[in-house]
Amino acid sequence: MERTEARPGPAGAAGDGRWRPPSVWLQELSWDQVRDYLDRDDLILLPVGSTEQHGQHLPTGTDSMTAIGLAQDAAQAAVALVAPPLWYGWSPHHLAYPGTITLVPEHLAAIVVDVGKSLAYSGFGHLVIVNGHREANLAPLKIAQTRLVNETGQSVVIVDPYYFGATTAIAQRGSAPGGIGHADELETGHMMHLHPQLVRMERAVRNMPPQARWFVGDPYVPGDRAFGAASIEDFRSRTTPSGVSGDPLPASAEKGSAYHRRMVDDLVGLIQQLREVKVRLKSFAPPI
Ligand SMILES: [Zn+2]
Repeated sequence: MERTEARPGPAGAAGDGRWRPPSVWLQELSWDQVRDYLDRDDLILLPVGSTEQHGQHLPTGTDSMTAIGLAQDAAQAAVALVAPPLWYGWSPHHLAYPGTITLVPEHLAAIVVDVGKSLAYSGFGHLVIVNGHREANLAPLKIAQTRLVNETGQSVVIVDPYYFGATTAIAQRGSAPGGIGHADELETGHMMHLHPQLVRMERAVRNMPPQARWFVGDPYVPGDRAFGAASIEDFRSRTTPSGVSGDPLPASAEKGSAYHRRMVDDLVGLIQQLREVKVRLKSFAPPI
C-alpha cells in the first residue's frame, strides 16, 4: 500500500472547523505560526529513532521512520505539532554492521534535555517523545525525561511501540517465542505499511536467538528474566550474516497497517488526555 503524505490544509481551512497550523512539522512553520499554535495549545511530539542496521531487508533508518510515521499521523489527526526528529539513538552493538551511527547514551540524554528545554522555553508544556528504537533508547530517554520534569516543570511522556503497541503485537504475532527482537515481524510489517519501496522481503531471513533461561529478549514471552548485554563481537557472531534477531517472515503490510493504525488512534487518545492536564512551567535557565 502506498502511503499518502499527511499534510494539513491551509491554516484555518480544516473541514471540521478546527484551526490548524499550515504544517504539523515545526520546522516548516515560521516563528509567528508557532506562536499562533502556542496561543491555542502547548503540546508537541518529538520522534526519536536510530540509524542502525536492520538486516538486509530493512533500511538503516527504520526506527526513525516508524517514529516519524506515528508522530506525523497522530499530529495530523489530533491537530498537534511535531518537532524535527532525532535520527540517532543508542545503538552500540549494531556497530557490528556498516552504516550504524550511535550516540553514547549520555549524549542522547543531553540532546533530548536540550531540545526539551528549548521547547519549554518557547512555552511547550507537554512533550510526547515517540521512540522508534524501542527498548534500547529507553534508559537515556528516561534520564532526560526525569531531568526535564524536575528542572522545567514540563510534562514529558514517552511512547514506545514495544509497550504502547503491545496488545496488537501479541494478538497478531506469527513467530515462535523469541521471534520479536530486531528487524522482526513488527518492524518489518510496520515498514511494509509506511515505506514499502524500502523493504526487500526477498532478503528477509529468520534468525532465532538462543533460548537461555532468564535471558529472553522477546518482550511478549512471559517469565522471570535478567538482563545481559551483548558486546559488538557477541552480537556479530549471534546475528551473522543477516543482522536479524528474531523472525521477520510472518510480516505483512496488512498487519503493519493495523499495528500502525491502532497506535495512531491510541496516541490521539493519549494526546487528548494529556491536554486535560494544565502544565505550569517553572522558571529555569535555557540551554546555553
Ligand atoms: Zn528497530
